[in-house]
Amino acid sequence: MTNRSACAYWRTRANPLRGMSKVNRLTAREKEVLLLLGTGLGNRQLARELHIAERTVKAHIARIVEKLGQETRLQAAVLSVLVHNTLCDDVRCSCRYAATAEELPPAFAV
Ligand SMILES: [Zn+2]
Repeated sequence: MTNRSACAYWRTRANPLRGMSKVNRLTAREKEVLLLLGTGLGNRQLARELHIAERTVKAHIARIVEKLGQETRLQAAVLSVLVHNTLCDDVRCSCRYAATAEELPPAFAV
């Protein structure tokens, strides 16, 4: 074993959590795209869902990745899942409850 940290975030310096504070820099439309990106869908399906061209989806995602200080769309997608509770305003969304502090196991309590 090496003395490197076992934490992937520390090892790679690529921590999607760092982008969380930058989410509010996104426009409303970019937030909508980010929320959908968290589903893992591809550009074609995102384009269909948003009623825009695939190249427009790619442009949105490139801008989102840049604004959030990420390197890849997958990192932005991971970040999307982490902030789903912030981005999703659907009252029927069960994820909203899963992400509230009261629902988290004690080990995750802030
Ligand atoms: Zn939701």
